[in-house]
Amino acid sequence: MRKPILAGNWKMNLTYHQAEAMVEELLSLGKAPESVESILLPNFLCIPLLADKLKGTGYQVGAQNMSSEDQGAFTGEISWDMLKDLGVSYCIIGHSERRTLYLENNSQIEKKLRKAVKTGIKPILCVGESLEKRQAGEAKKRIEGQVHRALVGLDREDLQDLVIAYEPLWAIGSGQAASPEDAEDMCLTIRQWIEKGYGSDLAEKIRILYGGSVKPDNIASFMEKENIDGALVGGASLKAKDFYALIEGV
Ligand code: 13P
Repeated sequence: MRKPILAGNWKMNLTYHQAEAMVEELLSLGKAPESVESILLPNFLCIPLLADKLKGTGYQVGAQNMSSEDQGAFTGEISWDMLKDLGVSYCIIGHSERRTLYLENNSQIEKKLRKAVKTGIKPILCVGESLEKRQAGEAKKRIEGQVHRALVGLDREDLQDLVIAYEPLWAIGSGQAASPEDAEDMCLTIRQWIEKGYGSDLAEKIRILYGGSVKPDNIASFMEKENIDGALVGGASLKAKDFYALIEGV
């Protein structure tokens, strides 16, 4: 059985002190349930704080992005070993906001994914189609293409810890989540694609998440679906009570 994941992508929200207050409140609400992998992904500046506060609590700390390079003259970048040094386990790769606002392309995403898997950072690869692609009936083709381009040259052994998040662009931050049926259909498509390329063992093992306007009151409808193994949540992960309710809803 696949252990579900509830991952909170804070994006560019919460200052250090706001993050501190959030985490203290979260810890006052109760323990992280063992049946779920609960991950908080703050901005880089808050990673040391969360790593410290969440140590031994069952909560994990992730990053929202990382460099495809090891070290050197790459101004403004953060490397895998800087993250590992602080105990970061997961890293989002290829979030749609990085693809659209910062023009990250498939080849950069492939390099980052390769660096993550080769260095023991567990990647949460994000894929998703725009509203135009969905309306044109090209949603599946789009996400298959994104998964394919990100995994080029990697083999089954590299992908044991891979997590994929299906996040349709039109559902992110819009309050308009995909229907659980559509989300399940897309997650199944991704799993079948993995099965074709890498075999059923890997396809059965990897966690596929849904993301896009997930809230405490709709998470259960996604978790009921066979091929949805959790959620990548933005806005609703910023408040301790909501984040805890989301974990309980998994
Ligand atoms: P929202 O939950 O705010 O729609 O954001 C989803 C997302 O982009 C998570 O990575």
